[in-house]
Amino acid sequence: MNRNRKIDFMINDKDKTEEYDVLVVGGGIAGEEAALNLANQGYKIIMVEKDLSIGGKMIHLSKVFPTLDCAACITTPKVSETARHSNITIYTYSEVKGINKLNGSGFMARVERKPRYVNEETCTGCQICEEKCPVFVQDQFQYDLVGRKAVYVPFSIANPRIATIDMDNCILCGACEKACPADAIDFTQEKEEIPIHIKSVILATGYKLFDPVVIERYGYGRFKNVVTAMQMERQLVPTRPYNNVLRPGDGKMPDNIAYVLCTGSRDATVGNPICSQVCCMYSTKQAQLLMGALPMADITIYFLHVRAFGKGFEEFYQQGRSMGVEFIKGKIGKITEKENGDLLVRYEDIREGVVKEAEHDMVVLSVGILPDIIPEDMFLKERPELDPFHYVMQVDELSNPAKTSMKGVFVAGAASGPMDIPDSILSAGAASSETATYLRRLS
Ligand SMILES: Cc1cc2nc3c(=O)[nH]c(=O)nc-3n(C[C@H](O)[C@H](O)[C@H](O)COP(=O)(O)OP(=O)(O)OC[C@H]3O[C@@H](n4cnc5c(N)ncnc54)[C@H](O)[C@@H]3O)c2cc1C
Ligand code: SF4
Ligand code: SF4
Repeated sequence: MNRNRKIDFMINDKDKTEEYDVLVVGGGIAGEEAALNLANQGYKIIMVEKDLSIGGKMIHLSKVFPTLDCAACITTPKVSETARHSNITIYTYSEVKGINKLNGSGFMARVERKPRYVNEETCTGCQICEEKCPVFVQDQFQYDLVGRKAVYVPFSIANPRIATIDMDNCILCGACEKACPADAIDFTQEKEEIPIHIKSVILATGYKLFDPVVIERYGYGRFKNVVTAMQMERQLVPTRPYNNVLRPGDGKMPDNIAYVLCTGSRDATVGNPICSQVCCMYSTKQAQLLMGALPMADITIYFLHVRAFGKGFEEFYQQGRSMGVEFIKGKIGKITEKENGDLLVRYEDIREGVVKEAEHDMVVLSVGILPDIIPEDMFLKERPELDPFHYVMQVDELSNPAKTSMKGVFVAGAASGPMDIPDSILSAGAASSETATYLRRLS
């Protein structure tokens, strides 16, 4: 579809157009917080989430630093409140296309709803279809640690908790259709496009993880016992894939685990020279949780600098040290794999100025975070500017941090730069209050 056709589509379909005050793009903790603040003031919100469930990354976490509170216990009430709020309409498995600023009367856009091939109204999430489906593929919600079926409910606390058929892998055998007690499988579904008119937009698209395959010398993707911190995070949640912490190569319980901080952060050679702000603390958190899960295990964290800048972070770092986590100021040269799957970590001991080698049975790469927004895909003509690191630019960072270069478009959470959960919530508070002020001035 060319650009003119898109504009035609929006004008001609005016009678089908859905009207809202605010479009929130992204259903992570920042998007939920911003949507709830505005919905509670009476504004009508449309939230568009590209994944199968709202909840963002937080819904996949174990506990949160520095308090070690359960992440799901904090986030699921917010997820449910967002899903049930009468002023919030949510389109999951959907994308926003062609946001177009109108002269003086807000924005037009299209929401593209991808087919689930399952009727959202009738599916009960019973997962009987999953049992019958013969196709196994890697489960992206368990970060590829285990498999799932071609028809699947993404994860146990997903919202909405309904099945979806992954048509890239489905062999159209019909077993799920025969088994479904609710008659919910519908192979005739097609992509749907919904025109929307909104008065303002909040970008809460968050972040994506650095792919450590890029750093070949760490062996990620080649050595099975080299994992990412998100893969370790999944092993520490109550809904974990193996019911214990196991190394993926052979299912052995690890007893000597290493963390490599700053994987893909503060590293201009991989195109990301900035600090990801959360890796030092999430690694210290995981190390403490591992000491509970595997009391006999040794945990070593290789770091260049530990950034414990936030409230309670220094104490949290000291708590890790006093529990016995070993912090080594060392620059990793290379990781090699032994025949038994153990890993040799060659590093420069910066304090002693010598090159050393240490053996670990599992290595966790503390991967950095990267922006997850491509405005060219979302906006038709005028677009919010990005900063030099490709996050949404905060044009008035000190006195109005939610403001973007586009009037009526605001930014919340990690879409504007790396940040932890409390800062994402604060940022969403700023975005919602700026949006409310903007809407009041319009009326
Ligand atoms: C391993 C790990 C452990 C962590 N542990 C902690 C911790 O203990 N404590 C802490 O404070 N922080 C922690 N963090 C950081 C935490 O994940 C972030 O602070 C938080 O998730 C930011 O929330 P957000 O809503 O801004 O972004 P996200 O959680 O990334 O949510 C953004 C949402 O937007 C959606 N989206 C993106 N693009 C589009 C689009 N174009 N259209 C529609 N939807 C879109 C995404 O699918 C996602 O659902 C951790 C991070 C990692 C990697
Ligand atoms: S599609 Fe049918 S069988 Fe599958 S979860 Fe939904 S109701 Fe259950
Ligand atoms: S039709 Fe597709 S999703 Fe359904 S059981 Fe067969 S392979 Fe699985």
